[in-house]
Formats: sequence, C-alpha cells, structure tokens
Amino acid sequence: MTDDHATSHLSSVQLQSLRQDLQQQLEQRRRHLDALRVQEQDGSGADGTWQELVTSITAAERAVAELSQAYDRLVAGTYGRCARCRTAIPFERLKVRPLARNCIDCQRRHEAA
Ligand SMILES: [Zn+2]
Repeated sequence: MTDDHATSHLSSVQLQSLRQDLQQQLEQRRRHLDALRVQEQDGSGADGTWQELVTSITAAERAVAELSQAYDRLVAGTYGRCARCRTAIPFERLKVRPLARNCIDCQRRHEAA
C-alpha cells in the first residue's frame, strides 16, 4: 500500500481514537439489536408496542450497518473523506459525528437542496 494519503489528515492517534469510538458504538448497537430481537421472538407486546418494536429493529439494523461500513472504511484507509468532493473531514467533526460522510459544505448544500 503506497497510496496512504487518503487519511493523511488524520494522525495515527486520531485514527486510533475514532476506531475505538466506532468499535464501542458498534458493540452497543449490536447488543441493543440482540435485545430487541429477543423481544420480537417473545412476541409478548401489544399491537402498538409491536409496531414500535419493528421500527426500532429496523433503525438498529441500519445503525449497525452504517457503523460497520464506517469501520470498514477506516480499516481500508478511505475514512474521513467527503463522499462528494473528497475534501478531508476534520477530526473534530468525525469525533462528534463518526458517521459523517460529507464535509460541512456539502452537508449544508445537501440539506438545503
Ligand atoms: Zn464535500
């Protein structure tokens, strides 16, 4: 691997820190998802809570998928770049929003559109 400039704006300490954050969140979310699935199998909820449960499971599944994709990007060395303009996303932004895929400019433009 010679092309390591993809994450050159992040130091190894910063990458390490983000990696730990992602790992922790992923673990938490997976545990949460497991707990929800147990509830689903029990099938003990009333109709209203059942609907909520299904919604929660869908959301938890999406969160797990997004986190593991971010983790894969981090391992692959493509993490921390804007998906639209390839600008380096600052560490401070990634620390607050580890799943951020766009720089602030693109995010604003996207939200305004
Ligand atoms: Zn951008």
